[in-house]
Amino acid sequence: MIPFNRPYLTGLEFARMTEAHAAGQLSGNGQFTRQCEAMISGLTRSPHTLLTHSCTAALEMAALLADIGPGDEVIMPSYTFTSTATAFVLRGAVPVFVDIRADTLNIDETLIESAITARTRAIVAVHYAGVACDMGAIARIAQAHGLLLIEDAAQALMSSFESRPLGSIGQLGCLSFHETKNIMCGEGGALLINDPRFVERAEMLRDKGTNRSRFIRGDVDKYTWCDIGSSYGPGELVAAFLAPQLEAAQRITQQRLDLWHAYHEVFAPYERAGRLRRPVVPAWATHNAHMYYMLLPRAVDRALVIQRMREGGASPVFHYVPLHSSLAGRRFGRAHGDLPLTDDLSARLLRMPLWIGVDVAAVATIFAAALAEAERGS
Ligand SMILES: *Cc1c(COP(=O)(O)O)cnc(C)c1O
Repeated sequence: MIPFNRPYLTGLEFARMTEAHAAGQLSGNGQFTRQCEAMISGLTRSPHTLLTHSCTAALEMAALLADIGPGDEVIMPSYTFTSTATAFVLRGAVPVFVDIRADTLNIDETLIESAITARTRAIVAVHYAGVACDMGAIARIAQAHGLLLIEDAAQALMSSFESRPLGSIGQLGCLSFHETKNIMCGEGGALLINDPRFVERAEMLRDKGTNRSRFIRGDVDKYTWCDIGSSYGPGELVAAFLAPQLEAAQRITQQRLDLWHAYHEVFAPYERAGRLRRPVVPAWATHNAHMYYMLLPRAVDRALVIQRMREGGASPVFHYVPLHSSLAGRRFGRAHGDLPLTDDLSARLLRMPLWIGVDVAAVATIFAAALAEAERGS
């Protein structure tokens, strides 16, 4: 069976974890955490990085830093992972769901302005599949209306918009190192702080409301409770695991891109024949091959393609249930008008297994048989 995902190892992860133990500090904010933060700042050209235990944690920190409160509105796509919304709903805010573009499946920037109200505080740009939103247009809107721009760059480390690394463009950017992401440590994340006014408060929010970071740097001679906060940092074992993955980020990205292009080539004739649509990468974007997805025609039964592929020995998946039609999304959020593209495209999307070592030709053969059968059935 070809699994949907197989977490990649550089081979150095466990030796680094042993080193972390030998160094005598396994709690957070030690040498491996700082090493990872420096590498992430190097890769993203973001001036301040704080490692977190997940992208969800980084998004929650962003919501706290933005001082989002009850009744505030936050504009975001409906076609995204739940954390994009839950981070703000935890603060009592209302996610306002905007439809997506047909090409990239990212938020449609031309619909954002009409979704802004007196209660709007922030826009969350989610870079789906590691392919950039139109950050030029979105940043202009945020600036014109005095809104905070937060990037959910969970899928987008090593991707860029007009040569600017994703996560470094909004005031705050959030990365994920979940095992399904390109660079991973099981569960992990980072907050990229591109506006220096947030740095000191972010350190305290991560560290239980204390100024312990300043104490570690020697800025103060004792640390104390200064602000609200939580425990958003990873332990050193996790950071030690992540470090060699970050060191190998260029190579991992290139290897994934090779696989992505192999899929793209195999599926080109299908697209020419109108049997599926391949992913679109706008000229402004360079991407990290996070995902290879396709859109099936409306008439093809996606569940049957998945079932036949599984029987044939490969595991494709689909996602997301759009947030505006989910149980909690209807309770806590609001759709900005109808979201026809979100409804349509999310029902037709299929993701191929993409991990270093996957046999693209074998998946393509299994897919060919499954698609042909689903086409006959429809
Ligand atoms: C994976 C993902 C998240 C959540 O990341 P975690 O590290 O698992 O918390 C959030 N948003 C998007 C778009 C994601 O793909």
